[in-house]
Amino acid sequence: NIKHLYNPTNTLEIIKKYGFGFQKRFGQNFLIDGNVVEKIVREAGITKDDFVLEIGPGIGTMTQILCENAREVAAVEIDKNLIPILAETLAPYDNVSVINEDILKVDVRKLAEEKNDGRPIKVVANLPYYITTPIIMGLFESHVPLESITIMVQKEVAQRMQVGPGTKDYGALSLAVQFYADAQIVLKVPASCFMPRPNVDSAVIKLVRHEDAPVKVKDEQFMFRVIRAAFNQRRKTLANSLANSSELNGSGHACTREDVTTALEAMGLPAGIRGEALTLAQFGELADRLIEMH
Ligand code: SAM
Repeated sequence: NIKHLYNPTNTLEIIKKYGFGFQKRFGQNFLIDGNVVEKIVREAGITKDDFVLEIGPGIGTMTQILCENAREVAAVEIDKNLIPILAETLAPYDNVSVINEDILKVDVRKLAEEKNDGRPIKVVANLPYYITTPIIMGLFESHVPLESITIMVQKEVAQRMQVGPGTKDYGALSLAVQFYADAQIVLKVPASCFMPRPNVDSAVIKLVRHEDAPVKVKDEQFMFRVIRAAFNQRRKTLANSLANSSELNGSGHACTREDVTTALEAMGLPAGIRGEALTLAQFGELADRLIEMH
């Protein structure tokens, strides 16, 4: 006899019962559309074999459906005012633990070790947009055992993660995400599916971690420095962006305009090319060539 939260009536009822006040700083917009909740869980590919980490459960709207589909769920929620609500809304389930913590402070590797024998976990999240990038990059860069991240983001951010060279949304985030994962937008979610209604439309993007990196480089961190330097000033040519850039100076492999144009020429690329025209593989090759020079 489970009461699902995923409609406006049940969401309002629980919020009123606890006198809960929405906090803007935590990006609290709760899903009120059952089809959307079910679709996200389905697209995440959750099965009874899976341990799922949910980041930002809110009142537990999606957590309920995750519990019904997964073997075990851990839900990390920063707002202590939501903890008593989650105790009630998740009471029917015996396969969930709620952790009252900032996700950026949680040792996800240890959690995966304890709950999933260190095997790759699935992450599902609907988070405030300002911490989306640090969380995604943190999970990838820390090499936590990870199978996929299915995450709700602002529509524009989802596009940025998915696109390739030659589009205006292409940038450092696209390259970073694509280095680690295959990125696919699986659902568009209009603002009307949330309470309160946000100012922007959202999209759910599924990031499936590559088993092997799509490009092999001598030094991953250096390649990402080159990428960040390249997009710091999008309008500049690559040679101008990289020459004397603080990103590269900080790496011990500072380079001059001439270094960059020499490397580009060897790659068969025009000297005046901009970063936004290079693929991930080309950034990898450029980074390797620049390292060899110094
Ligand atoms: N998953 C719920 C849903 O879809 O209805 C709630 C989504 S709401 C957009 C984001 C949730 O993330 C809020 O409950 C908020 O308190 C929580 N949150 C925000 N920052 C967080 C952080 N750093 N760590 C853990 N949870 C966080």
